[in-house]
Amino acid sequence: MKCSTCPLLTEGRSCPGEQSKFVCSQSHQPGLIAQLRSFATAVVHHVAAGRPQASQAQREARLAVCAACPEYDEGRCRLCGCFLATKAGWADQECPVGKWMAIVPMPAERLREAPVEPALA
Ligand code: SF4
Repeated sequence: MKCSTCPLLTEGRSCPGEQSKFVCSQSHQPGLIAQLRSFATAVVHHVAAGRPQASQAQREARLAVCAACPEYDEGRCRLCGCFLATKAGWADQECPVGKWMAIVPMPAERLREAPVEPALA
C-alpha cells in the first residue's frame, strides 16, 4: 500500500514505510510478514488462553471504538493489520494502543498472577 505522498509512488517496489517508520510518517498497514507475525502471535495467545470469546455486547463495544478510530481501515487496524471482526471477538486480545483492553488476562499475565507455592522444607 502506498499513499499519494509517497516519494516512491511511481516505482514498483514496496512502500518504504512498511519497512521503517523513520522513512515515512504516513499511517500504513504493516507489511505482509509483520501481519503474519502479528496474527500468529494473536493465535498463540488466544489458544494458550483457552480460546476465550468476548460476548456479543463486548465485541460490539470494541468494534464501535475501532470504527471511530483514525487507524480503522475497512475493517482492519492499520497498526497491527488484524481483521477487527475476528480480533474484537477474542476476549484475550487488546488494542495495540490501549483503546480497549483484554477481557481475560493474557497467558503471561496469568503466570505472573499465579500464586507461588511455598517451598517445602
Ligand atoms: S485496534 Fe485500536 S488502534 Fe486499531 S483500529 Fe481498533 S481502536 Fe484503533
